[in-house]
Amino acid sequence: MLRSLAAAPLTALASCAGAPDRYAAAIAVRAVEIVRVRVNRRGNWVFVKVHANEGLTGLGEASHAGRGDPQVALLEEFGEWLAGRSIYDIEALRAMAQQRFAEHRRAAPRALSGIEQALYDLQGQAAGVPCCQLFGGKLRDAVRNYANINRSTETRTPDGFAASARRAIDAGFDAVKMASFDGMPLRGSAAEIEAHTRLGVACIEAVREVIGAGRDLLVDAHSNFDLERGYDLLQRLEPLNLYWLEEITRPFDDLAELRRAAEMPFAGGESLVGLARNRAYIDAGAVDILMPDVKTIGGMLELKKIAVMAEAAGLAVAPHGPAGPVGNMAAAHVCVGLPNFDILEFSHGETDWRAELVDPPESLQGGRLRVSERPGLGLKLNEKTARAHAAA
Ligand SMILES: [Mg+2]
Repeated sequence: MLRSLAAAPLTALASCAGAPDRYAAAIAVRAVEIVRVRVNRRGNWVFVKVHANEGLTGLGEASHAGRGDPQVALLEEFGEWLAGRSIYDIEALRAMAQQRFAEHRRAAPRALSGIEQALYDLQGQAAGVPCCQLFGGKLRDAVRNYANINRSTETRTPDGFAASARRAIDAGFDAVKMASFDGMPLRGSAAEIEAHTRLGVACIEAVREVIGAGRDLLVDAHSNFDLERGYDLLQRLEPLNLYWLEEITRPFDDLAELRRAAEMPFAGGESLVGLARNRAYIDAGAVDILMPDVKTIGGMLELKKIAVMAEAAGLAVAPHGPAGPVGNMAAAHVCVGLPNFDILEFSHGETDWRAELVDPPESLQGGRLRVSERPGLGLKLNEKTARAHAAA
């Protein structure tokens, strides 16, 4: 019976009595295929295609960490486990992959994320609906993105950041994020730390000058401060009217203390994997805005789960995501249905071929990314562009 169902056309399956179970069993994974593209010195973008029967292929993204080698090994391992299983076995996949999290703290959740996005892409294609319809539908048609200019700014001076910010607003963005305290000499002298802090603040002032008072300015401190210097930083940044200040320091309780003293909202949590860890961060009062990343936490369902926890605690969600166009679209399909969605991250200016890496080409209008009306995620990899920039 199953064999004959597997050979039946999708339309016939969808209309037969008791269709869901038989339908699910009929669409099984055949194999995974991994595509890596070289972006810049910061590393590669890693994509995964999940091939299923009925000629369907789903797409996901498992970037971003250097060359991506650890993810590739785990993507292959998870793909072998998945072969022959239903495209609807998301929780079973999650349970299997979580057993590898302790040994591969960063790569395993990333590999899970890539495959999970691809399975949802397949589910949407099989059902003939955009992925957002699998996550509760839409509250909005498009999501607001901020331009992260940090990865594309090579000249780490006020002029260098200002030039990157200018390119972002010329491209239509009305919100810009930077991390100008990167490279803080934490083991250096007090004078060296002070000089780097002053330079970082000067870069932020230069960007505020370029973008004007009417656009939003977001600053990521990348945990370069301790509690005492964090208080000092708050005072220095207060006049700049930030949209948010992200991750001054690592300890949850220190962040919470600083947050209680701060005028501006706090955002953070991009590196937290697992519901329990996110719950602890929320309970500590570390942030106003939680930043799960669809590519590093386990995928689209995990993003929804964490967003629901945040919603229950009265927090907004602004998914982290400085990588390629597939992960951003996967996040957007969940974000359009989140009541507590704030803003999504977009890595601006890293390559001039980013938009062409997917078909149809990625398109943002005024910094807004519309989710596709096509089934699934609504995009494919552009094989020609991917081949032209294939990672060695
Ligand atoms: Mg960050």
